[in-house]
Amino acid sequence: MDPLAELDTRIAGCTACPRLVAWREEVGRVKRAAYRDWTYWARPVPGFGPADASLLVIGLAPAAHGGNRTGRMFTGDRSGDVLYGALYEVGLASGPVSVSVDDGLTLRGVRVTSPVHCAPPENKPTPGERDTCRPWLVRELELLGPRLRAAVVLGAFGWQAALPAFAAAGWRLPRPRPAFAHGARVTLERAAPPTEAAGGSGPGPVTLYGCFHVSQRNTFTGRLTPDMLKDVLRAAAGEAGIPPYDARAAA
Ligand code: SF4
Repeated sequence: MDPLAELDTRIAGCTACPRLVAWREEVGRVKRAAYRDWTYWARPVPGFGPADASLLVIGLAPAAHGGNRTGRMFTGDRSGDVLYGALYEVGLASGPVSVSVDDGLTLRGVRVTSPVHCAPPENKPTPGERDTCRPWLVRELELLGPRLRAAVVLGAFGWQAALPAFAAAGWRLPRPRPAFAHGARVTLERAAPPTEAAGGSGPGPVTLYGCFHVSQRNTFTGRLTPDMLKDVLRAAAGEAGIPPYDARAAA
């Protein structure tokens, strides 16, 4: 099994946060009426996307009836509809909607993950839960690191959670720590350059892009429009070296 797939399997079996374990399973038992025929995933939701991704999208945590139901990040709720619709529009996804883990959707050069892998009550993990989950993101960054060039971080929580994970995975944080803003752009250099013993190769700098979260509150109010999201994704994809691609023209 490749290391990232192995990591995903290990994440899906994690039970480190008692409150979140109880919540994700409770939601899976009670269900929402519209999904009563579903067998909820009700486990930690691993990242989604290829192991050679040079761009990472980092959210907050799975939604109770979205990722916690379907088992794929941002899948099965309106936030995901906005995100995958934009990824498709800029040529990073094979289709405009993500419905279930077996819908055949693929991503091109981009992986979607979050700093907390279990659905939290009211979409609010505690600081302790965020910190407990951090090693999973650190390991994901280490595995993606040799190719990773850019990351889009959705919302202030994701930003605050992602920065220490990048630091723990070997990137240097500027001081003072960069603040979250929509449109924020900051490049993290490696804390130590690759050694000669390593052939002088290894992970390089990563540029982070701040973007308002694709939450319903932001998208319904127009705080984040599809064009704003696509602009950030296009810029980050360009930084990540992913060539432009028109999925609809190629269909
Ligand atoms: S939030 Fe993260 S650390 Fe906590 S149980 Fe879920 S996967 Fe494990």
